[in-house]
Amino acid sequence: MTEDRHPTGDQRRLVPRTDDVLAQPDIRAAVQRLGRGLVKQAVSDAQELVRRQEIAPDGVVAATLAGLPRSANSLRPVVNATGVLVHTNLGRAPLSDAAVTAVTEAAGHTDIEFDLAEGSRSPRGRGALDGLRTALPEAADVHVVNNNAAALLLCALALAPGQEIVVSRGELVEIGDGFRIPDLLAATGAHLHEVGTTNRTTVEDYRAAIGPRTGFVLKVHPSNFLVTGFTSAPAVAELAALPAPLVVDIGSGLLTAHSALPDEPDAASSLRAGAAVVTASADKLLGGPQAGLLAGGESWIHRLRRHPAARALRVDKLTLAALEATVRGPIARVPAALNTSRDELRRRVLAVVDTLVTAGVEAHSVDSIAAVGGGGAPGVELPSAAVSLPARYAEVLRRGDPPVVGRVEDGRCLLDLRSVDPDEDQLLTEAVRAWT
Ligand SMILES: *Cc1c(COP(=O)(O)O)cnc(C)c1O
Repeated sequence: MTEDRHPTGDQRRLVPRTDDVLAQPDIRAAVQRLGRGLVKQAVSDAQELVRRQEIAPDGVVAATLAGLPRSANSLRPVVNATGVLVHTNLGRAPLSDAAVTAVTEAAGHTDIEFDLAEGSRSPRGRGALDGLRTALPEAADVHVVNNNAAALLLCALALAPGQEIVVSRGELVEIGDGFRIPDLLAATGAHLHEVGTTNRTTVEDYRAAIGPRTGFVLKVHPSNFLVTGFTSAPAVAELAALPAPLVVDIGSGLLTAHSALPDEPDAASSLRAGAAVVTASADKLLGGPQAGLLAGGESWIHRLRRHPAARALRVDKLTLAALEATVRGPIARVPAALNTSRDELRRRVLAVVDTLVTAGVEAHSVDSIAAVGGGGAPGVELPSAAVSLPARYAEVLRRGDPPVVGRVEDGRCLLDLRSVDPDEDQLLTEAVRAWT
């Protein structure tokens, strides 16, 4: 007769009780770190393994520890080797070290609305707003909301209540995931007065649409597509000369012009050209946290800030901390990546490939083309360099720890280093070696 180590009939009795497992020192420490719910789930998974006779009853603690999540937060840090600098699916801009430190410091109690010298209330987030004004002296005033969509919403609510927003048919943009700027604006009750055509709109089209019901003229940067060929759209200065306030959604959050992106609009130029208000995202080319920036004339920003909806769209202390560190601190990772030369990237790729080839990996160094991403500069090709691996690496690296996300091109898995921080090269190399 064959004998199981744990006879089936007794199996239920042999499963260690949850309370006993939770009382073990290592498990108690895990509860401190992760919370009771996540640890209990791991205990119950381990108990199930005992019931199925896959482990012995005395293996329950070890199995529980092995089954615990890494942290109480299920978001995994990943290495973005896609070559897309602003990848919305990968959390857009990674924060700079200075911004990460700022977030950590602001996470507890902080003087966000408190004057420590006077012991009284003070305006919220003054430091971040001052930092932005310093970085963008063309703006008489600035305001910060949850994201650029919120910035546009606030403009529509405060500057065109029940009125018309004049906008070109060529700029009725879908931001992504099915969300469309015209729908967002119409949801406020404002009426969109569309002018021109998909490919061409003239300043006269706008002028003819402006009347007593006009709230403002809106110019939206088509940041995620290109219309080429027989096209034209008036410059900001021409629109600013019309008899209605002009709101410019520049999208990507470049505060000043960037030589690598000659066609990408920036806040300073739009304000100099006469825009009443500029709106932008903070987590695209600015390289900061998710936020919407509003910059412009004092009276316009005042109206935005005092609108009741402003309270519903305001940002938290973590965002303000990260934003201030981004605009005041050392250059953030996305703008730094934009400035890196191809030679520098090739040098880094060669170092990674050398290590991998020595370890027996079939790796090559190749030139590649990186992109800013849906967040701006459509069609701009950033010269880059990549580690080329057999295609099967794409999936195993995604499932690795940390996950590395590359892109598959021409049957190869490319790890494009323009979107990888130099500090992560080692991590990326180790991740590839782990599969060899
Ligand atoms: C990205 C983008 C938006 C949306 O910005 P969020 O910060 O994601 O809300 C709006 N307009 C333009 C032109 C954009 O590029």
